[in-house]
Amino acid sequence: MNSNEKLAIDGGTPVRTRPLPQEWCGAHYMDGMESDAAARVCQSKTLFRYYGLDLQNEVSQLEQEFASMTGSKYALAVSSGTCALQVALGALGIGPGDEVLVQGYFWVSTVGAVVRSGAIPVLVDSDNTFDIDPQDAAKKITSRTKAVLVVHMGGVIGRIKEIVALARQRNMKVIEDCAQAASASQYNVKAGTFGDMGIFSFQMNKHMTSGEGGMVITNDENLYRRAFAVHDLGYPRNDEGRLVMDDPSLQLWGIGCRMSELTAAVARVQLTKLGRITSAMRSAKLKIKQALEGMLTFREVLDPDGDAGSFLMTVLPTREQSLRFTEALRAEGIVADQGGMYPIHMDDWGLHIYYNVASLVNKRGISAVSPWQMAENRASAHVSYAKGTCPHLDDMISRTVIFCIASVLTEEDVQDIIAAYRKVAAAVCQ
Ligand SMILES: *Cc1c(COP(=O)(O)O)cnc(C)c1O
Repeated sequence: MNSNEKLAIDGGTPVRTRPLPQEWCGAHYMDGMESDAAARVCQSKTLFRYYGLDLQNEVSQLEQEFASMTGSKYALAVSSGTCALQVALGALGIGPGDEVLVQGYFWVSTVGAVVRSGAIPVLVDSDNTFDIDPQDAAKKITSRTKAVLVVHMGGVIGRIKEIVALARQRNMKVIEDCAQAASASQYNVKAGTFGDMGIFSFQMNKHMTSGEGGMVITNDENLYRRAFAVHDLGYPRNDEGRLVMDDPSLQLWGIGCRMSELTAAVARVQLTKLGRITSAMRSAKLKIKQALEGMLTFREVLDPDGDAGSFLMTVLPTREQSLRFTEALRAEGIVADQGGMYPIHMDDWGLHIYYNVASLVNKRGISAVSPWQMAENRASAHVSYAKGTCPHLDDMISRTVIFCIASVLTEEDVQDIIAAYRKVAAAVCQ
């Protein structure tokens, strides 16, 4: 096609008129297997993981299968990714007086877990991977820094090895938020296994889904045991599923976020499809990026073979171009059905961006005393979250268009996406 054609936004003919498939990557792969698994659990009349009339052990089997998929020693299923973060921070004993380094491109749950623990999140700027910039992380370390919380947004892993090396040098723990990175990897090492603990989510938008659900992984037995107690009632359980309350090293407080057998049965089926789901997204994304090579600049991906492929981020030279690029793509028909939000300009991406989170910028707590007002955190009270705190990230966000790669794109869909990106790039980037 002629790439100097008049853009649809200026009255030209759109590349396509049929909507693209929606983003829910795991849900698209649901078939009779998930409903059969759920029915089996209901027929057993045992929806609780530790005991009942006819225990199916769905949750413990999911944990074993997930541990083996990631290559970690321990996996603990929980009720959401948000709870998984809280459990991980609890296992590491993070609380008032501690600072946790975190990037400014995240999901609100990431930073929320730190605040709810009573610790102080400290923002670290990003490099071109949109993940933590290890050099800025080194500058943000204080005597109070306990951990670094790395978020593998959109299925892409940044400079994790440098971050882990820095953490080892400076006696900090590393938590990987892999809620958007199940089955992503970097040079054949799976997301969640670089640091001390990894967390995952099975919410509707994630690579595999049971509606709600999450997972915590670690290789450290002590962290696993603490995580177990925190996710449940504050104590370990014996082989019969009964609480053990006489171990003085494990008398904690639990947050009650166990996974149900019903959730696990569905998640186990989805886990068997995870490889197919991510390879479909990855190969579509690689095809699109290759076809546009030299025309456009994308988020830096160190190991494209490990990219889960769920999002394509295009960084334009200027903000004006990125705004026009977004609108022009939508006008070309590159938009999902049922009010799909992508492509979207990153500035408009709500609670994914630190300066859009009002409760962070305004330093709110849940109770009357926020962590920033606690005596233990006095030395960290000055930390700022206003726009401008992460200048490199701010600049990239102001020029970036984000597009969701659906898990069920046809070859025709992919070719239309490429044609529209080419057409819009030729007009907007000349
Ligand atoms: C979805 C998500 C979470 C939270 O997971 P839920 O299961 O929705 O609680 C945490 N972090 C990131 C990066 C996410 O995308």
